[in-house]
Amino acid sequence: MTHLNKKQRLEEEKLSVNMFDYLPDDLVISILRKLTSSASSPSDFITVLITCKRLNRLGLHPLVLSRAGTHTLAVTPDKWSDSAHKFLKLCVNAGNIDACYALGMIRFYCLQNPVSGASLMARAAIKSHAPALYSLSVIQFNGSGGSKTDKNLRAGVALCARSAYLGHVDALRELGHCLQDGYGVPRDVSEGRRLLIQANARELACSLRSYNETLTDLCGVPVKEIHPVNRFLKEWFGSGRIELAEGLRMCSHGGCGRPETRSHEFRRCSVCGKVNYCSRGCQALDWRAKHKMECAPLDLLVAPEIGDGYGEAVEIENHVGR
Ligand SMILES: [Zn+2]
Ligand SMILES: [Zn+2]
Repeated sequence: MTHLNKKQRLEEEKLSVNMFDYLPDDLVISILRKLTSSASSPSDFITVLITCKRLNRLGLHPLVLSRAGTHTLAVTPDKWSDSAHKFLKLCVNAGNIDACYALGMIRFYCLQNPVSGASLMARAAIKSHAPALYSLSVIQFNGSGGSKTDKNLRAGVALCARSAYLGHVDALRELGHCLQDGYGVPRDVSEGRRLLIQANARELACSLRSYNETLTDLCGVPVKEIHPVNRFLKEWFGSGRIELAEGLRMCSHGGCGRPETRSHEFRRCSVCGKVNYCSRGCQALDWRAKHKMECAPLDLLVAPEIGDGYGEAVEIENHVGR
């Protein structure tokens, strides 16, 4: 009986292997496309690639790689290797714009290759990739990868506006502050205020949708999920494995991870001088999340009341030097 069962099992196994072999390539590719766009981590996809030669060959087909989603591409710094770099390059060559953005950010900030990094981000931005447009705007505002004279505020505002138009909340907030301050754009306080209220409303809607205990910071304010690339930057420099060059600091907003590319590149809190921000948006978010409780108490006593996005923005601008 046992013998028969074993024989039967072997027959079944043989049959199932054969059935897989008979599946046409395009059907397997279409299943893999679906998988790679919805996988929750790179390891989900790697497990498929190492299953057999055929799945490896078809899994690396450009039609599959072009669909790899943000989480499939979310390599972590501890797993960073030549193969991880090569995998992202294959996705870029397959026309995957999320991969252009991810590899662009990694090359720009982590691998000290600003020219290639910015050009990859530009490839994504041309295809209306909102996070890439926003990141390029931060680069323009700061003159990152170059000198102070490379700052281009008008280009920063133009990229930021395009990203905000596509619904990117950080860009919406940044643009709101620019309009309120007349930074790179003619001053328009009421329009700036309108955008800041819109950014806060969108953020709240996102938070309510994806509310999760683990995403709640110490103040009880729900925070939005950090983009895998920002997490990568944060861990790359924050783990102590890679030291930032002397005099360079990271953006103090916990969800950002951008480092300075030259000393004194970022804005500094003029009250305490202890925190630095890559953008007005990061500054506003960090102020709300924690810095208002850490900064000098004397200024808090004279600060306007916090309630809507406008009061908050004014307060920050009153506190921080330009
Ligand atoms: Zn930042
Ligand atoms: Zn401060």
